[in-house]
Amino acid sequence: MIVVMKNGCTQQQMNAAIRIMEEGGVKVMVSRGSENTVLGAEGNAANIDRERLSLLPGVERVMRVSEPYKLANRKYHPDDTVIDLPGGASVGGGRLAVFAGPCSVESREQIVGVARAVQAAGACALRGGAFKPRTSPYAFQGMGTDGIRLLCEARAETGLPVVSEILSTEDLDLFEEHVDIIQVGARNMQNFDLLKHLGRVSKPILLKRGLSSTIEEWLMSAEYILAAGNPRVILCERGIRTFETYTRNTLDLSAVLAVKRQSHLPVLVDPSHACGHAWMVERMALAAAAAGADGLIVEVHNDPANALCDGQQSLTPEQFAALMAKLRPLAACVGKAV
Ligand code: PEP
Ligand code: MN
Repeated sequence: MIVVMKNGCTQQQMNAAIRIMEEGGVKVMVSRGSENTVLGAEGNAANIDRERLSLLPGVERVMRVSEPYKLANRKYHPDDTVIDLPGGASVGGGRLAVFAGPCSVESREQIVGVARAVQAAGACALRGGAFKPRTSPYAFQGMGTDGIRLLCEARAETGLPVVSEILSTEDLDLFEEHVDIIQVGARNMQNFDLLKHLGRVSKPILLKRGLSSTIEEWLMSAEYILAAGNPRVILCERGIRTFETYTRNTLDLSAVLAVKRQSHLPVLVDPSHACGHAWMVERMALAAAAAGADGLIVEVHNDPANALCDGQQSLTPEQFAALMAKLRPLAACVGKAV
């Protein structure tokens, strides 16, 4: 249940509404928007005295929220959530944020070189996997802690905030200390224990859509992080599994529109993992921007042919710069700045 307070209501009127909700046995979350303040009931709202609540001065309306996600719901938070990143960039609102970098950190030269190149082309964050969720246990698993250390060096050289995927709660302290945006990969979207822990960290979380997850399941995973106390969740559509095998996944661009309608959280698109072919990335990135995505996360490698992971879908720095040049006028068409 959600209580929308009248524009200009007093703190006393709000406290009275909160009291009635708490008497009904729920925890109350307060969301202050540009127009109205909204009170959200967390928990079972069945015992709240709706009649008394709706008659209170200061209360505009009492709404039932039929969707199972409450804090992630746009009804609870009508304005777009904007997430500030270190270095002055932000995700959401009128910006198109572009994160770029290799699938995996491989060496100092590689990560620092790619960081410089993507920064020069206009990326606002550097991606790089250090702990890799590979299908085969015999495949390269990432550099681990050394990879995180190299990401920190690339950040020190460029000032770009860094994005990296966490696989285990064992690494929470390492990530909390060194990583600016913590990525939850598709394979861990429903690792609920991990999500609850990430709800208690102070860093933004990039939550990728699960391989075969519905939009509702994805938003419920975001809800886990929000409900545990971390309001800074960035969603990422990265393609879903369908019967099609030509592409690595099927990019569900309509999910961008659905999520932006249902939720206030920003949503990025990852055309690299969605398509699995470097030659498709530019067009799908432009399509994502046209569809209203809040940004992109793109794999860029200095030497894709010899990459230790996902070379076939990685752009060269030159191809990435060409993409960014096309993205700027397209973003402007949909009212965004890169
Ligand atoms: C990645 O970003 O490198 C990755 C493994 O992505 P996903 O979880 O979307 O497959
Ligand atoms: Mn990858």
